[in-house]
Amino acid sequence: MDEHYDVIVVGGGGAALCAALGAKEKGAKVLLISKTAIAKANCTAFAGGGFTFAGPGVSWQEHRDKTLETGRLINDHELLEDFSQHGPLSVLNLQRYGVKSQVHPNGCSVAAYAPNRRVGGLGLTLPLMEEAIKKGVDLLDGHFVYAIKPEESHFQVDFFNLNDGKNHSLNAFSVIMATGGGGRTYGRTNNPVATTGDGYHMLYELGLPFRDMEFVQFYPIGLAEPELPIWFIDLGIIDQVPLTNSLGQEFLLDLLKSWGLKSGREGNLYARDRCSIALAESWQKGDFPILHLNQMTPEQWDNPYYKSLLLLNRKHFDFTQIPIRVRPLVHYMSGGVVIDKNGATELPGLFACGEVTGGLDGANRIGGNALTNISHFGLKAGKNAALYAQERKAKIATRSKTELPNLDGSIKAKDLKITLNKTMDTHAGPLRDKKGLETGLKQVEEIKEFLPQVSAQSPKELRDYFELKSMLTTAQMILTGALAREESRGVHFRKDFPLELKEWQKPILQRK
Ligand SMILES: Cc1cc2nc3c(=O)[nH]c(=O)nc-3n(C[C@H](O)[C@H](O)[C@H](O)COP(=O)(O)OP(=O)(O)OC[C@H]3O[C@@H](n4cnc5c(N)ncnc54)[C@H](O)[C@@H]3O)c2cc1C
Repeated sequence: MDEHYDVIVVGGGGAALCAALGAKEKGAKVLLISKTAIAKANCTAFAGGGFTFAGPGVSWQEHRDKTLETGRLINDHELLEDFSQHGPLSVLNLQRYGVKSQVHPNGCSVAAYAPNRRVGGLGLTLPLMEEAIKKGVDLLDGHFVYAIKPEESHFQVDFFNLNDGKNHSLNAFSVIMATGGGGRTYGRTNNPVATTGDGYHMLYELGLPFRDMEFVQFYPIGLAEPELPIWFIDLGIIDQVPLTNSLGQEFLLDLLKSWGLKSGREGNLYARDRCSIALAESWQKGDFPILHLNQMTPEQWDNPYYKSLLLLNRKHFDFTQIPIRVRPLVHYMSGGVVIDKNGATELPGLFACGEVTGGLDGANRIGGNALTNISHFGLKAGKNAALYAQERKAKIATRSKTELPNLDGSIKAKDLKITLNKTMDTHAGPLRDKKGLETGLKQVEEIKEFLPQVSAQSPKELRDYFELKSMLTTAQMILTGALAREESRGVHFRKDFPLELKEWQKPILQRK
C-alpha cells in the first residue's frame, strides 16, 4: 500500500474489478479495497453468470425498448441509450482480460467457465482478478471503508483492518464506489452477507442524490422450507416441472401466458416483478405455491445448473423426493446514486458503478442486464476516473486524522441488524401499503435511537456497527420512496394504490 493513489476503487466484485482495470489501462496508479475476499465473496461471484444485451438476434434499439418497457418507462434515458448501444462491445471485449463466455442471440454466459455452476459469476470475477494482479493494480481485501472525505484537491478514504482493527487513511485524486447493493437490509434474501448498502450510506452522507430506491427486485422462486437455506431457483424451472397452487393449477405459467410470455424462461427476463407479486399474494392467502422438484427426471438433474442445486440438500431434506413450498426473496436493488453516462456522480472526482447506482433499470430489471451494466459502466467509470486524476494539477495534501468511534454501550449491533431485517421483511416486501410502510419507517427511527448505546469491542463488532448504520440509511430510503410512490409500478406494488398511474411516470429523487 503506497502513500497516495490516482484512483481508489471501493469494492471487490465485478463492477470494482472492471473499474480498476479501466483505470489501469489509462495509466493510473490504482488501489482496490474490499471488505470481503476480492472476486469471491460478492453478488457478482454468486450470480448465475448470464448477461443480456443486443446480439445477433436482437438489435440494440430492441434491447433498449424492451429494457424501458420492463422498467415501466422510468429508466434514465441517457444511461439506457449508452448501455444498449455500447454495452455488448464492452462485455465481448472482456475477452482481452481472459473472460470466456458462450454467446447466444441476446447475450452471453460465463457460467460454464466457473468452478461451480451455482456461483456462475466466478467465470467473470476470477479472470478479472488475475488480470488486475498482472496489470499491477494494488489489491487490499479484509478492509472496511467507512468514509470518503472530499478535500480541496483530492479525496481521503478512511478504512480499518477487519483482522486487527487498525485505522488507516489514504488519498486519491478520484474515487470509484463499487460497493454493490443493500439486499441484506432484509432477512429473506439471496445476497451475500456483505451486501449491506455501505456505499449508499457513504454517498448519502455526502449529500448526493439517489433515485428509484423503492424498487427492490424480488426473485419469484425462493426456497421456503425451513430446513433449506434461503436460496433461489431460476424461473426457467417451471418449464421443467409444475409449480402449482392448492387446486393443482399451474397458475404462474397460466399468468405468464396471459401476459404474452411463452415460458418461465421469458418470465425470468421480463416479468420477475409480476411473478413475485403473484406468488406473494398466493402465499399471503395461505395458498402456498408448491414446486414439484420431485418430478425432475435423472436426465434433468444431470444439467450442471440443477445438479449444483443438490448441494443445498443439507439436513437430509431430500427435495428430489418431496415437493417444496416457494415464495419470493430479495434479489437486487434497482435504485441507487445518480450517475451520468461517464459513471460520474454530482461530486467532481467521485465516480460510481454497479448495483450502488440507480436509473438504468427503472422500476424492474431485465434478467441478465446487471452483469452487462457492471461491466460496461465499470470500465467507463474506471477510464473516466483515471482521466480526471490526470487532470488534477494540485499537490496531494496531507491526510487529516480520523478516529474510529469509541463504542462502549451495552447493545450488540448484530442484534439490531436482525430486528431491522424483520422490519423490512414484514413492512417492505413485495406487497406494500401505507400503514405497513409508516410502521416500518417508525421502527427504523426507533432502531436508530439505539445507535449511541452500541458496544463494539472487536473489529467484527465495529463492522456490525458500520453495517447497521448503512442498512438503516438504505432501509430509510427504500421506505421513504415506497411511501411517496402512491401507485404500483414494476416491482413496487401498493395494495392501497394497485394501478400504475401516468402522473407517476417519473423517478423519485432523495438526498440528505
Ligand atoms: C444470487 C444472485 C444471482 C444473480 N445472477 C445474476 C445473473 O445471472 N445475471 C445478472 O445480470 N445479474 C445477476 N445478479 C445481480 C448481479 O450479480 C449484481 O447486481 C452485480 O453482480 C453487482 O455487482 P457489484 O460489483 O456492483 O457488487 P458486488 O458484486 O456485490 O460487489 C460489492 C463489493 O463491495 C465490497 N464492499 C461493500 N461495502 C464495502 C465497504 N464498506 N468497504 C470495502 N468494501 C466494501 C464487497 O465486499 C464486495 O466485494 C444476481 C444476484 C444474485 C444475488
